[in-house]
Amino acid sequence: MSGQWFLLLLPVAAASGWLAARYSWSRKAMSREPPLDRYLEGVRYLLDDQTDRALQAFIEVVEIDHETFETHLILGRLFRRRGEVDRAIRIHQNLAARPSLTDAQRVQATYEMGRDFLLAGMLDRAENVFRELMDSPTAGVRALEGLRNVYETQRDWQQAVWIGARLQEQGVPFEALRMAHYECELGLLAIEKQRMEEALEHVDRAIALSPGLSRALLLQAEVAERRGDIPLAIRLGREAVELTPPLATLVVPKLERLHMGSGSPDALESLEATLMELANGKRITVASIALMRLYRRTNRFDEALTQLQRILAQRPVPTSGLLEAVRWMKILPAVQAYGAEFSAFEKALMDQLRNQPLYQCSHCGYQGRAHVWQCPSCRRWDTLRGMDLDLDQPVTQVQALP
Ligand SMILES: [Zn+2]
Repeated sequence: MSGQWFLLLLPVAAASGWLAARYSWSRKAMSREPPLDRYLEGVRYLLDDQTDRALQAFIEVVEIDHETFETHLILGRLFRRRGEVDRAIRIHQNLAARPSLTDAQRVQATYEMGRDFLLAGMLDRAENVFRELMDSPTAGVRALEGLRNVYETQRDWQQAVWIGARLQEQGVPFEALRMAHYECELGLLAIEKQRMEEALEHVDRAIALSPGLSRALLLQAEVAERRGDIPLAIRLGREAVELTPPLATLVVPKLERLHMGSGSPDALESLEATLMELANGKRITVASIALMRLYRRTNRFDEALTQLQRILAQRPVPTSGLLEAVRWMKILPAVQAYGAEFSAFEKALMDQLRNQPLYQCSHCGYQGRAHVWQCPSCRRWDTLRGMDLDLDQPVTQVQALP
């Protein structure tokens, strides 16, 4: 009988032993600092953007309490933010492999792993992880966005279109604009392969997705030019600038090239008419600068002065406008005696123009000299706006659009 009682008491003894062990373990841990306090301290560091201190605090919390899911998650993200992607991957992999996790927690840890792979440039592994999650009710949209990132990086535009359609079904905003740009990328590839009909089909799809997309008009202009229909190419280029004036930096040199290369006897007159419409009608500074250049060729000083006044009223005054003004002054008879000084002035402005950015992202402020349709920094589409014009780019060698 007494033996049976002993058996009944066994679980209680075991539990109390476990409690005692746990208590002494906690006491030992608590002697350093209570985990909750240290955790909150870590959060405060995070809010103050003190990543290193936050990281130290969360590492200590994790050492004390190995089971905390959220803390491990934060720790993994912090390592990723610091660029220590290998450590982030290890944390998220270990986390996702824990048998005690709920389904939602496992999905969360796996998704974080996908983001680590993406940042590490391990695109195949990121793709596998995100594909695994794309039907998840809790992380499906984020996984699709991750996949979109993978395909944009790989420039796999067909897959990007497919993912865009899935995101659109989920009600994610602005997907149509992104998809329109994917179609434009596909159109551009078709042009490079001389498949003009296919290119125009992609352009039509882009316009259906985002009516009035200037980039689509520029692609149509490119096809028209390659087919020898220069008047149509010019009309479409003008239309694109009128719709999106900040694209003038990109398009005006092309319009100059199209007019001058048309072989038409009234090429100069028609170029002047196009530029006048953009400069006087739409107040586009880049067109004023191009007009000054045209007037320099034909020695029309008064008209050039009118455009110069318009350029000088801009803030900031584009360096390309000042450079064109100095080139004008150099040829005036009244300043011939100061040719060397004006040449030095011209050279200083040319150096400045050569070293300054020509485009800026209207969203994140990224600046660069080359126009790209997707910002390399914030990855938004069609956010680069012209700041200045590269006047030293010979008109005959202007890069083909878009
Ligand atoms: Zn940007």
